[in-house]
Amino acid sequence: MSHPTFSPGSTIGILGGGQLARMLCMEAKRMGYRTLVWTGGLEAPASALCDEAIELAFDDPSALAQFVAAADVATAEFENIPRTTLEQVAQGVPLRPSAHAIATCANREQEKTFLRQQNIPCAPFWIVTDAAELDAALQQLNGPGVLKTSAFGYDGKGQRKLTGQENAQEVWQEFDAPRAILEGFIHFAAELSIMIARNPAGEIRCFDPVENQHRHHILDLTIAPAPVGETTRQQAIEIATQIAQAFDYVGIMGVEFFLLADGSLLVNEMAPRPHNSGHHTIDACVTSQFEQQLRAVCGLALGSTRLLTPAVMLNLLGDMWPNVEVAPDWNTVFRDESAALHLYGKKRAMGRRKMGHATFLGNDALSRATAIKTTLIAAGRP
Ligand code: AMP
Repeated sequence: MSHPTFSPGSTIGILGGGQLARMLCMEAKRMGYRTLVWTGGLEAPASALCDEAIELAFDDPSALAQFVAAADVATAEFENIPRTTLEQVAQGVPLRPSAHAIATCANREQEKTFLRQQNIPCAPFWIVTDAAELDAALQQLNGPGVLKTSAFGYDGKGQRKLTGQENAQEVWQEFDAPRAILEGFIHFAAELSIMIARNPAGEIRCFDPVENQHRHHILDLTIAPAPVGETTRQQAIEIATQIAQAFDYVGIMGVEFFLLADGSLLVNEMAPRPHNSGHHTIDACVTSQFEQQLRAVCGLALGSTRLLTPAVMLNLLGDMWPNVEVAPDWNTVFRDESAALHLYGKKRAMGRRKMGHATFLGNDALSRATAIKTTLIAAGRP
């Protein structure tokens, strides 16, 4: 079956206008594409970088008409877009990845059910829609767990850790979500992720798996490549490939894993888009995750995912800013001659907002990134 391809000069429609869309626009510009960003009405770091922005909500019918009229092909930079909007977009213009893939990854219940159906290893889980179901699930789990909202969960939001001894009625009342999943608590050795891309012809490329370390439930450092053996590396590639093929996926996807002490992997979640843990690819790989996204979405041949040098990505969160409008002294980063600074153009450095990232290249990248992180946090807000 032949699939439409989109050459440079075409217009890429992007649902969402955050930093992922911004970095996608930068790559698109370099490669000679036009970009149209539908922001959903939120403050949009991508607005300054795209050729055209639609600054309206995702349920606005005039925005939909404008978007499908102007885009040649569409993709999404985040998954929390109403399913009806995704389906309406797909009726007017090729949407890659599909509405089904995006919507499945946006809902933990559907995502975990998909993994179970595919026999892909993940934490044990129970779907919970009321206190009685939570009570029954806790009894079956018989130990610590994590309660997560089915929808709109990311960066640890909409989550509560449970010892297993709580009163289900009280927990459910306080949790205040219509649907949730209860997952068994996993005592993982580390967290890993992998970026995989698949084009419409079914060609697949994986970047090297990376290790992710978190601070306040938000990605802090990504270490590339992950310090794991070949068996674990192959398992990550095989699982990501199985997921991409099962979705007939087109585009780039991040798959997050828990690494267990015996070297085996459990899938935590999937991101149907470029992912924070793939940002090092901009500076450290032959092809960046954003270029790969464009190649896949446009139906072109995929690029090499080769890591040119070990790298560490440090997220720059709002708490590194001395105050909400005063940025850190960037010479702290620039004094490292093998570091690259990326800022997202966000005006106010609120709390733990992702303001930018820095990528450190070389064999000693982790110690340099860690030292600079310590300096930035010390100079930031408590
Ligand atoms: P999530 O938003 O599901 O990616 O969860 C955010 C973070 O919470 C993960 O990166 C883990 O560090 C932790 N976490 C989530 N689920 C579990 C689990 N079942 N067991 C242990 N830690 C978890």
